[in-house]
Amino acid sequence: MSFGKLESKSYLLGIIKGLGITGSHFVKNLFGLGDRPTIQYPEEKRKYSDKFMGVHVLTKKHNGEIACTSCMLCATNCPAECIHIVAAESANPKVEKYPAVYEIDLLRCVFCGFCEEACPVDAIRMGRDYEMAELAERNFVVGIDYLMNRPQLKGRNLSVFHEMDKIVKSDFIESPKLEQKRVANA
Ligand code: SF4
Ligand code: SF4
Repeated sequence: MSFGKLESKSYLLGIIKGLGITGSHFVKNLFGLGDRPTIQYPEEKRKYSDKFMGVHVLTKKHNGEIACTSCMLCATNCPAECIHIVAAESANPKVEKYPAVYEIDLLRCVFCGFCEEACPVDAIRMGRDYEMAELAERNFVVGIDYLMNRPQLKGRNLSVFHEMDKIVKSDFIESPKLEQKRVANA
């Protein structure tokens, strides 16, 4: 009987082999000999792909106003139904509506990016933030202030739809999809 057949018939051989692999990783990691996948978080941060979709960003116009027009397309397309918008009439005669309330329940969100795809005015983007530990469930429902003004954004959340000519690369949160949009609209 070949070793492969014997191995498939005997649980004991499989267990010994598995323990051997685990043991070799243990010894390598103990003496720092292998490529350890563990990183010293939070001092060290993992580098995620540019395509990573983290916590959403609401963009703004150059005058600081929210870029969202309360069209509801993102909320309509959201498969998790976790976007809550209350539209209000704007005092600005050039703007029809704005969101008086724009909330996302991050615990229900599946980070699919459909909201970003659906938005006609680049008012919502998938951001890069992935650190969202909180103690209370209610803190995962985030509103306009967090989505638009959190310090991590460093003000780089200007909408490419509004005042395109004034947008420079440093205003822009890196996103290959949005870069394509920006080039197409330039
Ligand atoms: S990423 Fe997907 S699930 Fe999350 S808010 Fe957007 S559309 Fe909804
Ligand atoms: S974020 Fe975009 S899609 Fe959603 S309501 Fe605002 S303008 Fe419409």
